[in-house]
Amino acid sequence: MVPRDLIDAALRAQKQAYAPYSQFAVGAALRDERNRIHTGCNIENAAFPESMCAEAAALAAMVVAGGRRCIEIAVVGMGERLITPCGGCRQKLREFGTDDMVILLCDGAGEPRHTFHLGELLPCSFGPEHLA
Ligand code: ZN
Repeated sequence: MVPRDLIDAALRAQKQAYAPYSQFAVGAALRDERNRIHTGCNIENAAFPESMCAEAAALAAMVVAGGRRCIEIAVVGMGERLITPCGGCRQKLREFGTDDMVILLCDGAGEPRHTFHLGELLPCSFGPEHLA
């Protein structure tokens, strides 16, 4: 079943993207353990390494709201290629979820392109339980 609410939230977030340098707008929306949706967009910076990905921004919104688990996340990108979370975001998502986290990748119109589980994108990952 396609989580339309999540995709629509990601599309709304994408419209807020601050991407004056790349013009590459990304939106993300995630569902937490209380079924709440949190969104984020990419935020670029003139000092390029200080930019923030949409997934990281959505995680920050979740944490501020008290969420501690990401059940699923939808990411809306641009262009023909599949837009997958970058390596850093895969690890950030791992902090708040497990291998079975659903990662739904959509095109710029919000059409689902591919669904992964986090374990596929970040196999043999290091997580909080390693420090427990
Ligand atoms: Zn990223």
